[in-house]
Amino acid sequence: MSDLMIFDEVRDVIVASGGEEIQMCMQCGLCSGSCPWGRMEEKSEFNIRAMFHMGRLGYDGYESDDVLFACTTCNQCAVKCPRGIKIPNVVRSIRSVIAETGGIPKNLKAVLGSINSQGNPWSQEKDERVAWTKGCDVPQFTPETEYLLYVCCTSAYDGRSQKVARAIADLLKAAGVSFGIIGNEEKCCGESVRKIGAEEEFGKLAEYNINLFNNKGVKKIITTSPHCLYTFKNEYPELGAEFEVIHYTELLQNLMAGGKLKISKPMPRKVIYHEPCYLGRHSRVFDAPRELINAVPEIDALEFEGNKDYSLCCSGGGARIWMETKAGQRFSDVKVKEASQAGAEVIATACPYCIVMLEDSLKNQNKDEEMSVKDISEILKESL
Ligand code: SF4
Ligand code: SF4
Repeated sequence: MSDLMIFDEVRDVIVASGGEEIQMCMQCGLCSGSCPWGRMEEKSEFNIRAMFHMGRLGYDGYESDDVLFACTTCNQCAVKCPRGIKIPNVVRSIRSVIAETGGIPKNLKAVLGSINSQGNPWSQEKDERVAWTKGCDVPQFTPETEYLLYVCCTSAYDGRSQKVARAIADLLKAAGVSFGIIGNEEKCCGESVRKIGAEEEFGKLAEYNINLFNNKGVKKIITTSPHCLYTFKNEYPELGAEFEVIHYTELLQNLMAGGKLKISKPMPRKVIYHEPCYLGRHSRVFDAPRELINAVPEIDALEFEGNKDYSLCCSGGGARIWMETKAGQRFSDVKVKEASQAGAEVIATACPYCIVMLEDSLKNQNKDEEMSVKDISEILKESL
């Protein structure tokens, strides 16, 4: 760490941008003790308790801004915090201080640039947002449609993830749901933008999407990603949105319970469920994904030792998906090792970021022949 400097305005900006809970911290260190960074083979300079200490006193002294962007906002630490501090919100506010001075890591600047020019973080053409629908007949949203299907930028553009978007659309059609897409006019929900600390850009994106959805007559939204779910449900209302938002796993579980979605083909495989942080800990959706997996005949459903509130993050949240992470510091590598030790043949999940991170780890560990990663929608589609 370099010489520490004290800036009153640093603390003031953190407090003003929603991080006022930093002042409740009593420096007990329970957060650092439960943070996955402490479990990694390769040690990191990042320590959430120390970061809060520096933020509270207005210090600005980390040698590398990358350390300030180490947090995946997984919310694991908040489960243990005796003061009930929403730690990821404070992290976001600290980052907004850095973002205001232009000090964010290079990769994240590229993400912001792409969102500004193309409306997505993957540097893809905005007019290609519906490319995922090729070969799959997906209805357009009209004022008579019940649900808008909002497809996350990753599932809209990434070839692997596009299969998940198609599987979800096929399941909705099979269950007779009234849904449609808006498509190329949509922009990124802005989840990562806000986690980077770019508050102004987030506000512009949210305002754009809220106006677009209102003008189209949207009342209810199905999200393919837990990150969009969290943002639409918890952050858009601050800007006037009044949509009813549901993750696709919750809706499919309701449809299955009502007899509208029938899963019948057996899948005699050992399947372990990886809990996406923004579906589980952040949004409290724990049962629906498990009930969907258990509905598949002959599936042998396994659990990680740490699950639900104690599930280990894949390390893709908090905009980390766009950052380089050294071997020995990847949470997803640990997760793959644990799945292998449990004897799993399939890691099931319900988040596009988790799929990217876990598949990378499978390849890095040469386990991609022993195991595969599947979205729950893909498992269900195979079992229709
Ligand atoms: S657990 Fe809560 S109170 Fe304790 S150091 Fe961490 S943020 Fe502060
Ligand atoms: S949110 Fe997750 S990564 Fe960030 S400090 Fe807490 S436990 Fe660590």
